[in-house]
Amino acid sequence: MNAMIFALAWLVAVQLLGLGNTVGYHRLLTHRAFACRAPVRWCLTLLGALHGGSPMVWVGLHRLHHTKSDAPEDPHTPTKGFWHGHAGWLIGTTNPLLAVLFAASGFGQQAMILVTDLRRLLGRRPADWLQLCPDLRQERLMRVLDTPLVMPALFAAQLALAWGVAGGLGILWLWLVHLFLTNSSWSVNSVCHWPAFGHQPWDTKDWSRDVPWLSPLTNGESFHNSHHRYPRSARHALQGGADLSWLVIRGLCRLGLAWDPWLPRQFRPRDAAN
Ligand SMILES: [Zn+2]
Ligand SMILES: [Zn+2]
Repeated sequence: MNAMIFALAWLVAVQLLGLGNTVGYHRLLTHRAFACRAPVRWCLTLLGALHGGSPMVWVGLHRLHHTKSDAPEDPHTPTKGFWHGHAGWLIGTTNPLLAVLFAASGFGQQAMILVTDLRRLLGRRPADWLQLCPDLRQERLMRVLDTPLVMPALFAAQLALAWGVAGGLGILWLWLVHLFLTNSSWSVNSVCHWPAFGHQPWDTKDWSRDVPWLSPLTNGESFHNSHHRYPRSARHALQGGADLSWLVIRGLCRLGLAWDPWLPRQFRPRDAAN
């Protein structure tokens, strides 16, 4: 595999899989920011599942984050430390060194998903926040993806495919994809809730921030204070700025594959119905 193909394939993968997380898991499944045809919903969900774990787990955790933002019950608030908010919360540590090592591990999240699934198979009850996504429980695809060991099997298939295509270089490529995607997603929890970064255009009574420079690495998710003010908004960069996820949602709408993107009243186009 030459370096150009390696880099191009990496870019395409992190964009597509990243949009599965930001447009799919976050704006569509968690916040119902727009409606779309079923195959679009399935594709976005599967792209997110390739790196983000069970959609019901992700959505349940994220809805808890919105109802308890930066309170003690918030699963990943950085009020317990920047690195705890970034990655430490996933392994239950406030130790910055352990959290940094976990963040740099690339496949660490996949290992934790396997551990959680094994514990569920041994009878450990799913966490209460799973009750926060009764809507997703109605869908067969979501229930299948939440079945213990389905996510680890999906990851094992990625490893086998990467090895089959390019051997050790393929595994390195996949590791770099997961390393970027996990840290991109976690940076919204850490950087975009950390007082030293960005600004807070809305008084949301939490630590959330708009951090425009992080937007290209997070598909527009870093306008996070605006998102906390208007969680259902399909567009996060409400006051301008790069928001690739919003451009994709708008593109899907223009193609007739999605519709009804929700925007706060004052940010709707003048000719739009209320
Ligand atoms: Zn937040
Ligand atoms: Zn959200």
